[in-house]
Amino acid sequence: MENHGAGSLKLEDQIKFTKLFINGEFVDSVSGKTFKTYDPRTGEAIADVAEGDAADVDLAVKAAREAFDHGRWPRITAHERGRLMNKFADLVEQHADELAVLDSLDAGKLLSSGKAIDLPHCIHILRYYAGAADKIHGETLKLGGEYQGYTLLEPIGVVGHIIPWNFPSTMFFLKVSPALAAGCTMVIKPAEQTPLSALYYAHLAKQAGIPDGVINVVNGFGATAGATLSSHMNVDKISFTGSTETGRKVMEAAAKSNLKTVSLELGGKSPLIIFDDADVDMAVALARVATFFNKAEICVAGSRVYVQEGIYDEFVEKAAEAAKSWKTGDPFDPTVQQGPQIDKSQFEKVLRYVELGKQEGATLVTGGKACGEKGFYIEPTIFTDVKVKPCMATQRPTFMYLFLPSTLASDAFHLQEDMKIFQDEIFGPVMSLMKFKTIEEVIDKANSTKYGLAAGVVTKDLNIANRISRSVRAGTIWINCYFAFDPGCPFGGFKMSGFGRDLGMHAVEKYMQVKSVVTPLYSSPWL
Ligand code: NAD
Repeated sequence: MENHGAGSLKLEDQIKFTKLFINGEFVDSVSGKTFKTYDPRTGEAIADVAEGDAADVDLAVKAAREAFDHGRWPRITAHERGRLMNKFADLVEQHADELAVLDSLDAGKLLSSGKAIDLPHCIHILRYYAGAADKIHGETLKLGGEYQGYTLLEPIGVVGHIIPWNFPSTMFFLKVSPALAAGCTMVIKPAEQTPLSALYYAHLAKQAGIPDGVINVVNGFGATAGATLSSHMNVDKISFTGSTETGRKVMEAAAKSNLKTVSLELGGKSPLIIFDDADVDMAVALARVATFFNKAEICVAGSRVYVQEGIYDEFVEKAAEAAKSWKTGDPFDPTVQQGPQIDKSQFEKVLRYVELGKQEGATLVTGGKACGEKGFYIEPTIFTDVKVKPCMATQRPTFMYLFLPSTLASDAFHLQEDMKIFQDEIFGPVMSLMKFKTIEEVIDKANSTKYGLAAGVVTKDLNIANRISRSVRAGTIWINCYFAFDPGCPFGGFKMSGFGRDLGMHAVEKYMQVKSVVTPLYSSPWL
């Protein structure tokens, strides 16, 4: 295997761990089965990875249960948990270059971004929650009838984390770090496309001294390993990131088993709204990054770009030029801005959407084709004339309000009227550029998909920025920026983009439960 610009690191040397990690050991799957993980640059297999299914998930949950019930993590001091997490972060920092290579190899992510953005962000997240571990506390309660009380925030127990392939490292730490801080033990099911870095992290956690059974990693497929974890009677919570369709299945499985709590970080179709007062060149640069970063395999991609009519024509022309100059190619090449899509199925799905957009009558301004001699590369693509019906209340059929909740009424209406490339999360480098006249119109359009993950607004007018941020139904609003993530800033969705928050102290709350302790203030009449 070639070196491909990864400095002194040889790519084949980076794949050290391919088994399951259960109770502190790397083990084969019970069935002995393996599956292949592929390099998106070529479509060729790069490793055989142990394939966990129900039996392996059982073993991993048992290990996590024992570690929790015997207090190996929840009952050590919070200070010690924080210390071990910081040690874990030190080791991730020491191995950051190798880990960035693994994600580039497995997911086609830019090595330059992995080193400069993903890995530093992961370390930052882990340290943020290491610092949070000994700052989690309940409250004292002054109760009526001469009683007093206090609340304890107790770890929820064994957590199942099910994560997607687009940010293998970031997703791992988004989930694992707050759960560790809370005192939970856990089983992680990485996406079948990208198991490699999670296994390396499990190894580093052990090296850091995190006790056996606290972190377990079971690679495998959604329908087997993922479904078993979601329906497992001994799992107390599922923290899921992935598609809205799978999120629904996870919730159903939780409801049909032990009523475990669920948090869902799901899909998006985020609007980026650019007003006439914007600097057009800067706004084009922002829109390009907002749509095409990470080959648009990012749930918050600003793929619906609304531009006010005064600058629209200039914006379209410059956006097309910007897309043409966005360099697609080998993710190990530091001059490249866009690597290959994750796999053949995503690649084909994105190209199908491009065809659909053309059939539906949208205008293809640039891109729209596969590129490169092998692998899953797609040109940065822009459509204009993307049709969406305004959903002013007066235009909605009244009967929908009678029979459907308002969000569903809006969805049902739009599903009949709008182009699919406007409604659906494509998860590939396709921007829909749309013109608007008024703020009322654009708020209405921005809110007119089933999703509500994020939104961006570009304007110098504070009143406009404030009005957009209060009116657009999304979990994050970026004003004059995009992708501004921080461990301290909660992240999650409205509407069918899910519920529950990753990042910030809200994420710790997901992994805790409240216990109330009540006692008479003076003397107990029962003694
Ligand atoms: P996916 O839903 O197909 O898979 C996500 C995970 O769920 C994988 O680990 C998969 O194996 C597992 N899974 C599949 N079927 C399952 C089942 N029946 N039971 C339990 N687990 C199952 O999603 P994907 O294609 O891997 O990722 C892309 C999606 O993830 C996009 O919709 C994207 O928007 C979303 N995403 C959301 C966020 C967010 O924070 N909101 C972040 C990244 C990705």
